[in-house]
This record gives sequence, structure tokens and C-alpha cells, in this order.
Amino acid sequence: MSESSEAAARSVAERFERLYGAAPDGVWAAPGRVNLIGEHTDYNDGFVMPFALPHTAVAAVARRDDGVLRLHSADVDDPVAELAVDALAPGSDRRWTAYPAGVVWALREAGHAVTGADVHLASTVPAGAGLSSSAALEVVVALALNDLFGLGLRGWQLARLCQRAENVYVGAPVGIMDQTASACCEEGHALFLDTRDLSQRQIPFDLAAEGMRLLVVDTRVEHSHSEGEYGKRRAGCEKGAALLGVDALRDVPYAELEAALARLGDEEEVRRLVRHVITEDERVERVVAFLEAGDTRAIGPVLAEGHASLRDDFRVSCPELDLVVDTALGAGALGARMTGGGFGGSAVVLAEEADVPVITKAVEEAFAAAGFRAPRTFEAVPSAGARRLR
Ligand code: ADP
Ligand code: MG
Repeated sequence: MSESSEAAARSVAERFERLYGAAPDGVWAAPGRVNLIGEHTDYNDGFVMPFALPHTAVAAVARRDDGVLRLHSADVDDPVAELAVDALAPGSDRRWTAYPAGVVWALREAGHAVTGADVHLASTVPAGAGLSSSAALEVVVALALNDLFGLGLRGWQLARLCQRAENVYVGAPVGIMDQTASACCEEGHALFLDTRDLSQRQIPFDLAAEGMRLLVVDTRVEHSHSEGEYGKRRAGCEKGAALLGVDALRDVPYAELEAALARLGDEEEVRRLVRHVITEDERVERVVAFLEAGDTRAIGPVLAEGHASLRDDFRVSCPELDLVVDTALGAGALGARMTGGGFGGSAVVLAEEADVPVITKAVEEAFAAAGFRAPRTFEAVPSAGARRLR
């Protein structure tokens, strides 16, 4: 365990003890994620390729057998919330506690005898930056309960339950990527995930060894207003699949793209959405092939193509994200794209190590010149998925 996760585990455990008056049974961590490529494909049964961040949600948890669930976050200015596990009901909670409570609800609903817990958590995953702070929260609680109640569930099964918690209990129509990434990623790898059958492959992605870096630029534009837009895109994709007579857009082979687009006739909006999804799946496969062939620099242009498709066809970018991508590419980046759902959040920039200072400065200056809030840039090292710390 790294020194910083050791320190985080200790401080979260100590705070737990001060709050609840006894030591926790254990401490767990689950990371946020960045999606390298494969955006808005997960609800079309397609491909995604996230990797885990070093940023994690860390939870100290103690098992309870009296039906009481107590929740506390170091990052929210609320007292301990106390809930009864048998009274948990979807849609009843509009606060942050809905994420961990939703996990308990989903586990119980799936027939697992989770009889209560005390939870204290703290997270270094920035919330609302498109880096999946919500999945980190869900997965860390799910993993802790899996261990404490001896449920024996695998990472992908925990991910499914966490997705159900977020879909049904919280009421956010998210796909399976975030939770699977948080639960299943491995250090030094990106996760090639087929969101239809959840089959996965760890793809070596050790940029530092090859003299490259991947920057995450958080535009600090909140994406919370994007729910309605997300729903519209999702409905448009479903309409496209129906018009094309397939279960999901994933079923349209890339070789049949032009024919499929022609069949959509005057459905201009749907046609653009469909084109993004089908070409994006192909881009993910191209990135996997390049990385497996050891040709890492070749993925740069594919990332840039992906951004253009999200901006022009899927229309989920925003001026800040476009400015990061254009400025980074202009300053010598190998590739860049928005990541996450869009309408704000973060962009990823692939660059030679030596070019990082120039690119970072260029982006900062471009933001200042445009009158945008200063962005937050950090280096994303592909890190471990969810794990027990102590
Ligand atoms: P994202 O997952 O992209 O960060 P979401 O809107 O899906 O954005 O999730 C953000 C929400 O998750 C926050 O509004 C909050 O309710 C919850 N959350 C994230 N981190 C924490 C934390 N450390 N403590 C409490 N709640 C958190
Ligand atoms: Mg989220």
C-alpha cells in the first residue's frame, strides 16, 4: 500500500472512532475513473475504455446487525444520518446519502442479508467533475459490505448492484461503465469493457514508461444541468436502434455505417447520434489494437477524432472543453478529447512528457484570455481498482 493510502486509511479510521465511539471493522478504497475513449456508448451496449485514478473514496465501516444504517461524509457539512435498512425506499432521499443507502437497498433487494452498518467516508475524487465521484462512493460501500457480510460477490456483480442503486434509488439513468471501472480496474492498465456482456480485458497502459503523460483538465464547469440533455441523447439512440431494427446501436457493424445512415432518411438528429455511437465503438477497437501492438502514440489522433464526433455529431461538448482540446492540440499534444458525459467536467490530453509544461501553460492562458474560470490540471496515472486497505 502506498504511503498516502496508508495515511488516508488511518485518518478515516480515526475519524470513524471519534464519530461512533469504536474502531471500524475495516477500511476500503474505491477510485474515480477517467474514460480514455468510448463515450455515450455504454447505454448502447457498446465499448468503453476507462482507467482508475489515484483519487479514491475511502470508507471506514463497521457491521451492525440491528437494522440501523449510519452514514457520515467528511466532505459534507451534515451530522451523521441514521436510517432503518428495512425502510429504505427508492426516490426518498435527495441528498448524498442516497448513494450509499441505495447500495444497501440494492444488496437487500437482491436477497443479501445486509443488516446495517456504520459508515464514515472521505473522498479525494472531485465531485461533479466527470470523474465519477458517485461510483467511487457506491463501490467503496458495496465492497465493504461484501466483505463484512461474506457475500462473495465479484467486482462486476458489485458494479451491477451499484448501477442499480444509482438508476433506481438515486434516480440517475447512468450506464455500467463508472461502477465497473471503479470495481475492476488494475494499476498500469486501462479496462476494455464490453458493456453488453460485461466481458473485460486489461490493456497495458503505462504511459510513464514510454515517456508520455495523460493530463486531466477539469474545466470546473458543473455538469449537473445536463440530465435532460443526457435523456434526450439516450432516447435518440433508442429511436435510432428501433428504426434500424436492432436491439442496440452496438449491433450495427462499422462496415454497415453508411447503409445504416442512409436508412435513417430525414431523421437528421437521430442520424448524427447514430453516427457518433457507431464510429465511437470503432475508435475504441482501434485504440485497443494500437495499445496491444505497443503503438501508444498512434492513439492520439483517435482521441482527437472522438472529440470532434462528440462536439459535432453528439453535441455534448461546451466552449470550455473545446478550448482545452484545441489549445492542447495547438501546443503539441498527441491527442485530446472531452471525457465523461459532457456539458462541462473534464478533458484528457495525451502528451510527450517534455511538452506538459508548455501545454498546461497554454491552456491556462487560453482560459484566462477567454474569461473562463481557471481550470484544474492533474496527471492521471492508471491506478488500482477498489480494494481493502486494512
Ligand atoms: P460525478 O460522479 O461525475 O462526480 P455525480 O453527479 O454523478 O458526479 O455525483 C456527484 C454526487 O455524489 C455529489 O453531488 C454527492 O451527492 C455525491 N458525492 C460525491 N463525493 C462525495 C463525498 N465525498 N461525500 C458525500 N457525497 C459525495
Ligand atoms: Mg457520477
